[in-house]
Amino acid sequence: MTDSACRPGCAACCVAPSISSPIPGSRGRRGLPTGKGAGLPCTQLTEGGLCALFGEPERPGVCVSLKPSREMCGASRDEALAYLRALEDDTAP
Ligand code: SF4
Repeated sequence: MTDSACRPGCAACCVAPSISSPIPGSRGRRGLPTGKGAGLPCTQLTEGGLCALFGEPERPGVCVSLKPSREMCGASRDEALAYLRALEDDTAP
């Protein structure tokens, strides 16, 4: 797996996976105290596909630690969504 650059506005990783940690609210956006379900856009995702919490200390640790990679991100948003959906299915309880 090789590092790659994040595609601005892609946001596949803010939609496809479930997040079990709380997601705080910010700037009029509601928080998700119990996290978010798979396939649901995060409430902190802006219209431009960016994170409203980017650079803020309350951004969830799982989001801070997730790094783009060729394997995960593929060559397009659709490829990233497909990879992340499959990963979610493979790791569902
Ligand atoms: S908090 Fe930000 S980085 Fe994390 S899922 Fe939501 S929009 Fe994406």
